[in-house]
Amino acid sequence: MPNKGAPLGRLRILLVEDSPEDAELVSDQLLDAGLQAEFERVDNEVGLRRALTEYMPDIVLSDLSMPGFSGYQALQILRELHPKVPFIFVSGTMGEETAVEALRKGANDYIIKHLPARLPPAVARAIREARSEIERARVEDELMRSQRLESLALLAAGLSHDLRNILQPLLIVPDLIRERSDDPKIVRLADVIAECGRRGHEMVESMLSFVRGSRQPSERIVLQRLFQAVGMLLKSSLPRNVDLHLEVSDDRMAIEANYTELQQVLLNLALNAIQAMPDGGRLSLVAERGGQGQEECVRIRVSDEGIGMDEATQARLFSPFFTTKANGTGLGLVSCRRIIESVGGHIRVHSCKGEGTSFELLLPMQDALLAEGEGEVPAIRAGRGERLLVVDDEATRLSLLGNALSSQGYRMRLASDGAVAMRHLQEAGLPDVVLVDSGIPLLSAGQLLAEMQAMGYRGPAIVLEDANAPAFADGQAPSGISVHVLPKPLEMQRVFRAVADALGSD
Ligand code: ADP
Ligand code: MG
Repeated sequence: MPNKGAPLGRLRILLVEDSPEDAELVSDQLLDAGLQAEFERVDNEVGLRRALTEYMPDIVLSDLSMPGFSGYQALQILRELHPKVPFIFVSGTMGEETAVEALRKGANDYIIKHLPARLPPAVARAIREARSEIERARVEDELMRSQRLESLALLAAGLSHDLRNILQPLLIVPDLIRERSDDPKIVRLADVIAECGRRGHEMVESMLSFVRGSRQPSERIVLQRLFQAVGMLLKSSLPRNVDLHLEVSDDRMAIEANYTELQQVLLNLALNAIQAMPDGGRLSLVAERGGQGQEECVRIRVSDEGIGMDEATQARLFSPFFTTKANGTGLGLVSCRRIIESVGGHIRVHSCKGEGTSFELLLPMQDALLAEGEGEVPAIRAGRGERLLVVDDEATRLSLLGNALSSQGYRMRLASDGAVAMRHLQEAGLPDVVLVDSGIPLLSAGQLLAEMQAMGYRGPAIVLEDANAPAFADGQAPSGISVHVLPKPLEMQRVFRAVADALGSD
């Protein structure tokens, strides 16, 4: 075996050579040296181009001059089609000048026909070098990709905290608006704000989970309702010349997935579709039953009449950071695929350049034969002047909570830290319920509750908890107080319910 190193396997060697005898001589030399190889011979441009597309050699060995074709031309064609495939000149006549010229033009080596001993090791070395170059490029690519993902993770982590706080009012204000107005138009606008707030917040969360790779909790999603929500969100940003068509063939169809993630898949696909139709057209989202072998599934199609995609684009669609848009992220479809596959589904695409594109989602079916009245939420009992102490260092949230709860009929005391809370307690006595953020300064939530317990408090406590910072991390959970944990972000309805439940179970 020529040269030492990893076995090369069976090689495909393309000979550019007009003389069949010379070609045979070269192949015999290589086989005699112990290389495993198969050979193909061409002697003109058409043959070479065809061989390079159909045959895909590991190496090209070329004569310098042939009637009507030259080795330099062959080299140029190879470099244009496959820049990484090695190329060696094998010639009967090669002066030093020609050899230098050959290397300068990008050949890997040159061998003189009457010195055949050099050929096998030169072939082996050129192939090994080319392979390790490809491997190096692959590793470098992989590294770049993971570095980009890593910086994205850092960015996401940094941003998400600030974004959570910024988005918080969007979750709370709509409830306040609804309470202060009966005007259906204003109530509808409040719904849009609430939905966007929820979506924004959960997008931050799912971006974090994407980079961390964790799974979102899943729930049963009735497609009819999901489509309604998507329709509402799309309508507010739909260009005039785009005509939206939503259709769910059976209103009992349901699937098991994370609501926000699935909604995001549909929004991503719809947004891509809208962007693909700069001159307008029809965007349709259709959900219907589909059979996939024995198993029933739900088929959702998001179709547009836009610019469509060529084969090359279709092949790279789902690669991270692949985008054809000036300000695209190239992450939309990657996350769609991750979400769909995480619930055991598939995503497929059909596209025709100039005609349009249709993305098809196939998801395992979960029949939802809704029981009468299911999904109706029982009304929340209003306050009757009960005293509430709220302790939270986030000023916006504190004032929103104060406003919202007082409008529900509670008497409020607000404190921005443990010390202020203690002063309130000493001045005004114990409340009926205490609502405390888990991250308050000066006293921890646990210490505050312990102090209150020492003062004789036996009522309930509601603790607002961050997903990544459990309450009572200091081990100070009080034993004589019943604690209800409420995860952030807050939605007012959930706060109202928690307060009502805490009082009700008292
Ligand atoms: P981005 O939208 O940020 O470019 P995506 O992952 O959502 O990232 O999409 C990747 C690429 O796929 C787009 O840049 C576009 O070239 C192509 N693409 C996606 N959806 C469509 C569509 N409906 N019509 C035409 N091209 C599309
Ligand atoms: Mg996109």
